[in-house]
Amino acid sequence: MALTRRPLTNQRVGRIPASGIRRFFDMVSGVDGSISLGVGEPDFVTPDRFREAAVRSITEGRTKYTSNYGILELREAIAAHTEGHRGVRYDPKSEILVTVGVSEAVDLALRATLDEGDEVVLADPSYVAYVPGIVLAGGVPVPVATCEEHDFRLRPIDVERAITPRTRAILLGFPNNPTGAVLEPADIEGIARLARKHDLLVYSDEIYDRLVYGAEHRSILGEPGMKERTVHLAGFSKSYAMTGWRVGYTCAPAEVVEQMMKIHQYTVMCVPTAAQYAALEALRAGEPEVRRMVASYDERRRLMWRRLNEIGLRTFEPRGAFYCFPNVTGTGLGDEEFAERLFKEERVVVVPGSAFGERGRGHVRACYATALPRIEEACDRIARFVQRLH
Ligand code: PLP
Repeated sequence: MALTRRPLTNQRVGRIPASGIRRFFDMVSGVDGSISLGVGEPDFVTPDRFREAAVRSITEGRTKYTSNYGILELREAIAAHTEGHRGVRYDPKSEILVTVGVSEAVDLALRATLDEGDEVVLADPSYVAYVPGIVLAGGVPVPVATCEEHDFRLRPIDVERAITPRTRAILLGFPNNPTGAVLEPADIEGIARLARKHDLLVYSDEIYDRLVYGAEHRSILGEPGMKERTVHLAGFSKSYAMTGWRVGYTCAPAEVVEQMMKIHQYTVMCVPTAAQYAALEALRAGEPEVRRMVASYDERRRLMWRRLNEIGLRTFEPRGAFYCFPNVTGTGLGDEEFAERLFKEERVVVVPGSAFGERGRGHVRACYATALPRIEEACDRIARFVQRLH
């Protein structure tokens, strides 16, 4: 009798698609002459001082597990940094957890707080990991459309319409990946008001907090009564050019951190020790480096934004992160076809906007964290490609 074989894998995981960014990442690897505007990471090498701090920690023999929460000095530095930038004080002993990038912090926050069927309201389009993270945690994502006409802001009026008795939380990711949008003070106040009124948690992913142009980043943490109901997520990858080090952190009420810490303890134990020392140096002495890189991103941002609009791809002004999000519908191509053909014909990689949600459709994401001459060259190629389509 033939044995029927049960599926080898979990159904919930099986239903989650692989990231739409990876596909384009893999497509270019090893292709000569290509220019990637695809991956969202700084082109800068991690500044010397941070790297040297990690090397020093190794040569001095600091090679063991650290506290599950992360080294105390780093948590103290995070507390001082958050107080300085947000005006909110966290206890380094109970309200801060150092994580494997913001990626782990997002996952832990969702798993530690959501129960089966809890709804989470979030902007569409948004960072690719949010929806799968909510689903894996047993929650239900409730995407709220954002659009060009409103500068891709998440407006309180739209959030309010999405709230139901099952809503548990609002997930904010601003400055936004993929759009480069930032929230206006009135948006933040309105969303905070809704969170208080409906007794909701807010997950606030502020990984791009330092990468804002012409304005200060404003966090929902500074709103009255929000420290008690916000899980603040931040890290080193983008602002400090440290993607490969895998260091992020969360600041949250002790009862949330305690539950997040348990999952962290049983899955990864702690963040690699040398990486924590590099992050500590970044907080202690990294400010001039951050300023230098932000000034450079701003120059690149203005160049790419201007060139894309000149080419005829309508692009709203990105005010944060390091992405432009041009509208490609005028070319007659869908975003996937645009990205695929642009790569095949001109060897320029961009990511289709639909990888970030339904409302990203008709746009592509182009990362400007690359040298000015490469941006110029990529834009020349995009112009040639678009001209051929007319
Ligand atoms: N959150 C957002 C909005 C991102 O864009 C990214 C990376 O692209 C992450 C989190 C993950 O960052 P990390 O490298 O800290 O895991």
